[in-house]
Amino acid sequence: MKKKIIDENKIEDVMNMLLKMYPEASCELNHGSKFELLIAVVLSAQTTDVSVNKVTPGLFKKYPGPQELAEANLSDVESIIKKIGLYRTKSKNIINLSKKLCEEFECQVPDSYEELITLPGVGRKTANVVLAEAFGIPRIAVDTHVFRVGNRIGLVDEKDVLGTEKALMKRLPENKWIIFHHLLIFHGRRCCTARNPKCETCLIKDICLEYNK
Ligand code: SF4
Repeated sequence: MKKKIIDENKIEDVMNMLLKMYPEASCELNHGSKFELLIAVVLSAQTTDVSVNKVTPGLFKKYPGPQELAEANLSDVESIIKKIGLYRTKSKNIINLSKKLCEEFECQVPDSYEELITLPGVGRKTANVVLAEAFGIPRIAVDTHVFRVGNRIGLVDEKDVLGTEKALMKRLPENKWIIFHHLLIFHGRRCCTARNPKCETCLIKDICLEYNK
């Protein structure tokens, strides 16, 4: 069956309209270093960035780097991050991740996908966010917003996250991957929400395939 996607020449229009709606689009997880970013992204699985931003200041104050977090007591970490979902598993993961960083990567966050995904709690999406945000390496991390919005607009027509990532990488210019990722997340959080998207105020409704179907 033919894919339902917008014409190539409309992609730039979509980006420009999203840039007009969200000139401030960027990573919404507060962080002051590559290590803090990595931890914040691991904590953000199935939790909002807003909730993560509430617990990370206390966490990083007590454990400013991987050495400190590697030696942390599990129940202390649990009590600091207990307001976020899956906090028990995440506490274990960030301690073990810090140990591994210190044992195998000289306490530095690695800059390759293959190394990042060996860390506890780090999957494809997290690794891609870290590569793009911490190292400026072009990647499109597909989360629930990027998946939903990208497919609704018709940037791609895919059934799953991996297919969406690959198709977006094929259709979007590489030097726009990082900004497009942020724009789709901003749009998904503020306008093209999972339930009751605010289509009437959406600047891209004339292009959007979901709106015009
Ligand atoms: S028109 Fe509606 S469905 Fe399409 S991108 Fe805008 S908010 Fe989402």
